[in-house]
Amino acid sequence: MADESHQNAVFQCRMCGRCCEGRGGIVASPEDIARLSAFLHLTSEELVARYGEQTGGKVKIRAGDTDCCVFFTREKGCTVHEAKPAVCRAWPYFRGNILDSESLGLAKAFCPGISPYIRHDDFARLGREYLRENKLLASNPACEATALILP
Ligand code: SF4
Ligand code: SF4
Repeated sequence: MADESHQNAVFQCRMCGRCCEGRGGIVASPEDIARLSAFLHLTSEELVARYGEQTGGKVKIRAGDTDCCVFFTREKGCTVHEAKPAVCRAWPYFRGNILDSESLGLAKAFCPGISPYIRHDDFARLGREYLRENKLLASNPACEATALILP
């Protein structure tokens, strides 16, 4: 789940949990791993062994028994909200949605938190601001989420 209520005109998370479903999409960068480890009182190695999986050279948060992110529960939502990975905090301002209006259209259909009225150029401008202000932009495709690397 993304941060609630940032830039309300564009996005307000409805806490539906849809973006926490599925397997293997959540990249955890070295910074994310350090933050999650501290939050859960684990070493980085323990965190990765217990909750991560290596895919294509990157660490990703694995799915639990219900095919949702292992940190997601229906009762509580994201159980690591305060320490969740950058890619979760960045949604819906992913590279594809910022660069491509069709991608934003698909994201609107998927995520009820994105305003259906927001124009793509406004979304892209505000999204870049949000990512920059919150230090969510990435630069290392070897270990960070490609979705957070912008030209
Ligand atoms: S870390 Fe939290 S916000 Fe991110 S996918 Fe998992 S449950 Fe959802
Ligand atoms: S799909 Fe959108 S509205 Fe639903 S939890 Fe994720 S960010 Fe929030």
